[in-house]
Amino acid sequence: MDITLERVGYTYAAGTPFQKRALEDVNIRIPSGSYTAIIGHTGSGKSTLLQHLNALLKPTEGVVRVGDTEITRQTKGKQLRPVRRKVGIVFQFPEHQLFEETVLKDVMFGPLNFGVPEEQARARALELLGLLGLPEGTAEKSPFDLSGGQMRRVAIAGVLAMDPDVLVLDEPTAGLDPSGRNEIMDLFRRLHDERDMTTILVTHSMEDAARYADHMIVMHGGTDVMQGPPEEVFGDEERLARWRLGVPRTVAFQREFERGAGLPPSPPRLTEEQ
Ligand code: ADP
Repeated sequence: MDITLERVGYTYAAGTPFQKRALEDVNIRIPSGSYTAIIGHTGSGKSTLLQHLNALLKPTEGVVRVGDTEITRQTKGKQLRPVRRKVGIVFQFPEHQLFEETVLKDVMFGPLNFGVPEEQARARALELLGLLGLPEGTAEKSPFDLSGGQMRRVAIAGVLAMDPDVLVLDEPTAGLDPSGRNEIMDLFRRLHDERDMTTILVTHSMEDAARYADHMIVMHGGTDVMQGPPEEVFGDEERLARWRLGVPRTVAFQREFERGAGLPPSPPRLTEEQ
């Protein structure tokens, strides 16, 4: 299911004193089955863009196409339902949206709301809790009795329970420690490979883009400024520098290594900030 945005513009609070232009003439294509990283600095429009992918926001101008569904400013709520089901978004700090009495009820909430029979929703929820590495017995606990990392996993299970074709991840590892971070990123990689799910990772980490994505979109000032496979994007250091972005250290390291320069004195370490 390809996703395309054509000449998309978006203005928050249009016609009020708080009016704010967030997207301007965005033209992008997210290929079906890809692992696409959307990168850019804070304020470049990434979050606004991703809310267009499941029609939480409708474009002020232009067209968003998600598979066969066309979304414009005029598209009505009922027509958006299939998109909301097919595109799952894991927002930043998704654990803040947990609300049910038990973990199981929370994970089942979405499917029940979309008419999945109760037994099927329960089986799917339990399977996902296992897949996400939550200990047995978690299902009957209150989500608020879990650790932060476990709450995050429950929230992710809730999105996966809808069996989305497209999974959108907005800085999904923010605030996690390095081992929790790697586990979650590896899980998304596995889901992408095994379930053939289009994965869209919104991140400010060039390292994560280099490590996981096969397609990249660079946002700057509310518009798309580069897109293509990582080799191509990282190959154009001059343009990247124009957007105050650099080649990730792991890529630079590998290039040096391939040029036969030998190992640098200390291999670079990955940090949250890159
Ligand atoms: P990013 O996710 O890359 O940090 P955002 O999409 O959040 O970028 O923001 C793009 C621009 O839109 C910023 O200038 C931001 O201040 C503005 N913006 C974001 N959300 C709102 C909102 N709810 N109301 C008004 N302006 C907003």
